[in-house]
Amino acid sequence: MKPMKCISNAIAAAAACLSFHAAAASPIKIVAAENFYGDVARQIGGSHVEVVSILSNPDQDPHLFEASPSVGRSLANAKIVVYNGADYDPWMDKLLSASKAANRQTLVVGQLLQKRSGDNPHLWYDPSAIPTYAKQLASSLKRRDPSHAADYTKNLDTFLAALAPVNQRIQSIKARYAGTPVTATEPVFGYMAQALGLVMRNDRFQLAVMNDTEPTASDTAAFEDDLKNHRVKLLIYNSQASGGAAKRMRDLAIEAGVPVVGVTETAPAGKTYQAWMLDELDAVEKALDKQ
Ligand SMILES: [Zn+2]
Repeated sequence: MKPMKCISNAIAAAAACLSFHAAAASPIKIVAAENFYGDVARQIGGSHVEVVSILSNPDQDPHLFEASPSVGRSLANAKIVVYNGADYDPWMDKLLSASKAANRQTLVVGQLLQKRSGDNPHLWYDPSAIPTYAKQLASSLKRRDPSHAADYTKNLDTFLAALAPVNQRIQSIKARYAGTPVTATEPVFGYMAQALGLVMRNDRFQLAVMNDTEPTASDTAAFEDDLKNHRVKLLIYNSQASGGAAKRMRDLAIEAGVPVVGVTETAPAGKTYQAWMLDELDAVEKALDKQ
């Protein structure tokens, strides 16, 4: 319906016209469980969406997150809900089943990527995951709001183009460092390390930290040996999921002269997904250059 048609309509229809324009102007409410999915939603939806992200605190371990009642309230008004799945944010399943809403669409990134419970849940570090999610979200927005379909297509193209430097950096690091043994305190960077062709060591230790349990004595000893004997060229340290065992490994790496690169689970405040990934890739490349 165009404004001209409203003007030409009878006065009796004026109220309907007004309510139509009010509805068309109000942005589509999107709730993202994790702030990087929210950032992508903002880039794809532009001015036609209003995005709330639940997990964004850099000092909080997302694996130990518990939702407050205000989270449930923002979900009740959402038209599109995005979350990671793959057991990363099980509180979302609970909240969504507790607040049923008609006409609300849910996008689970783990399902889009056919991930299962037990797979590494840090899917956004997989370079193929975010484009898949972005395309799916653009399709959802076009279905819900066809009058702005051209905008969503344009925003998606812009976003995918903005990911090109990230992919180029991945390829250039891979060309130089594929096969390099590295380790990490927690599996957050796992998919990216794989994309870079790095050989990740001490997986069991990392899973224990992720699950907030104490790594076994033998896994801890193997990790310490790797650092002391320089069998790894880099320690990736997750500052957002770091119990005492992880901190000890970081200190030991510093003492042994193994470079440490800090990474996070959620995006730093004010940073786009692509800027965040480029920063971390920069830090990894600089650390590997030192070896
Ligand atoms: Zn994690």
